[in-house]
Amino acid sequence: MSETKNTNENAANLASFDPTGGANQHPQEYYDKIKQKFAEERDLRLNYRPEGTRQFNTNFDAGLSRFGEDSYNKEVKPRAPLNDTVEVLFIGGGFSALLTTSQLREIGVESIRIVERGADVGGTWYWNRYPGAACDVVSYDYLPLLDEMDYVPRDHYAKAPEIFEHCQNIAKYYDLYDLAVFQTTVTSTEWNDEEQLWHIKTDRGDHMKSKFVICANGPMSKPKLARIDGIENFKGHSFHTGRWDYDYCGDNLENLQDKRVAIIGTGATAIQAVPKLAEQAKELYVFQRTPSSIDIRKDWPTDPNWARKLKPGWQAKRRQKTIDGPQLTAKQLEKRASMPVDEKIRRQENANIDHMMWIHQRIDDIVHDKDIADALKPWYMFMCKRPCFHEDYLPAFNKPNVHLVDTHGKGVKEISDRGPVFDDKVYDVDVIIYATGFEVQKTGIYNEIVGKNNTEINDYYSNGIRTLFGIHSNGYPNLFIMAGYQASFQFNITDVLTVQGAHIAACIDHARKSDYQSIDITPEIEEWWVQEVIEHRGKTDRNKDCTPGYYNFEGEDNRRQDGTYNGGFNRYVELLRGAKSKMDDIFIVRK
Ligand code: NDP
Repeated sequence: MSETKNTNENAANLASFDPTGGANQHPQEYYDKIKQKFAEERDLRLNYRPEGTRQFNTNFDAGLSRFGEDSYNKEVKPRAPLNDTVEVLFIGGGFSALLTTSQLREIGVESIRIVERGADVGGTWYWNRYPGAACDVVSYDYLPLLDEMDYVPRDHYAKAPEIFEHCQNIAKYYDLYDLAVFQTTVTSTEWNDEEQLWHIKTDRGDHMKSKFVICANGPMSKPKLARIDGIENFKGHSFHTGRWDYDYCGDNLENLQDKRVAIIGTGATAIQAVPKLAEQAKELYVFQRTPSSIDIRKDWPTDPNWARKLKPGWQAKRRQKTIDGPQLTAKQLEKRASMPVDEKIRRQENANIDHMMWIHQRIDDIVHDKDIADALKPWYMFMCKRPCFHEDYLPAFNKPNVHLVDTHGKGVKEISDRGPVFDDKVYDVDVIIYATGFEVQKTGIYNEIVGKNNTEINDYYSNGIRTLFGIHSNGYPNLFIMAGYQASFQFNITDVLTVQGAHIAACIDHARKSDYQSIDITPEIEEWWVQEVIEHRGKTDRNKDCTPGYYNFEGEDNRRQDGTYNGGFNRYVELLRGAKSKMDDIFIVRK
């Protein structure tokens, strides 16, 4: 099959909805009425959970620690503590580390250590092994280093095991296993200004030193639980999707055939897991707070003829094409330029609403029961929440063993010893699966990072995040952050990590060639970037208009600089590339 477009492939572009396209199929009152309904549904949710991001718990002590433990490799391999010094140390062994390593190898860095909490590399793809796990970003764009590894994924959308295996192959190819340490959590990272080195301590008694440290812990690696009363009192079994319990469920979920299963949450993870659970569970109760938008995915096996003809450099070219999106004609550009801003926004919003109503129609076409179909309809603009793509999620609700428990924004607030409680009804179940997501884009998740200023990095950020490009913070020399806030957002995170990795390698290369012991950004350049982030975030009203979720800090409206940089990915890339020739202006250096 040749490369054809589908809605998913265009997810990022869809979000910008061409105002010169076919919007305004209906009178404006039609759109205004729907916008009004969006606002009501948002307000309803905000009123139910005014505590914003504090509604979640990520510190799993007091009877919850098992939710964070590794369910795949329970035995911890003994090893002696490490007390050595390396040149570059990565905290985390997922895509960030793997991608950046390849660039560091190119500039001749040999001494690279990955310190990883899991028992292998892979990050997200080590932890997320839930049934049905796959990536709904096109595999040829998403999987890192395909050219370098001479590998073409098996399908248009790669399944989790293939991605995990690809990560392992990268680690082998770049000789990363020799210096890597697994089942190890970094607990403190402290700058020693006299030695001009970072001191890194772990939960395994290590005290390592490194010249450069790269925070590569990923944007979402720490599982979070909603603060629901009674989680620890449940008498049945329970676990988080990021720590799937195959010992309990069976490799193919066969042990669930006589079990009543509850899954809490209907985000991108649940959308993929529910169809698999529906096939095996005796009864499946899906507890929904806000429905996801479910678009077409349309997967297919890679055409070997297409794969064979790929020329070196194909992945970078493909990615750039996807990033650039559909090219507008001169006429369209002219029409766009001459359109007043308000009109542009109105048309974009209307086109967005048309798309969401198409999502609604698709639900009506697939789900037989009208009440269930209605309850599954998302009432918010496209991209207010992470869009989902699946062919089997909606049909699962036609099965007699699958029950939607629509909490209509309230969420589950109580778990009894027998199961989740909603509207005074106890749902008796054998197992509860929490698909409640992950802590978002925090730097130093299990780890305290103390810089030159003797300040922990999150304290330094207490009045708002302060970085340059989302990568450097003043007072934290030789420290680089990947996939954090204040960086540009791309639906395909690999795009972001690739350019960040290249920038980090360029900084390290510059420091090595110039014999610098340390590089630390100036306060002025940091302030410039903070203002850039604020200025560009000001363009959108997403915080105010969208239904709460992690994209808008659960509706917290006061965190303008804590988000992503909205000035466009291509501009972000240009700025990073431009920094290469200005390093001595950007950094305070020490020989
Ligand atoms: P999310 O944070 O997206 O979803 C959490 C879900 O839990 C939401 O539906 C939320 O409802 C619900 N929830 C929270 N508290 C309660 C409660 N008390 N009662 C009932 N429901 C509750 O987590 P996911 O793990 O689904 O996804 C995280 C991210 O991982 C995705 O957004 C995506 O970026 C990534 N991912 C990517 C995939 C891919 O294909 N590339 C696949 C899977 C995940 P509400 O919406 O109301 O807050």
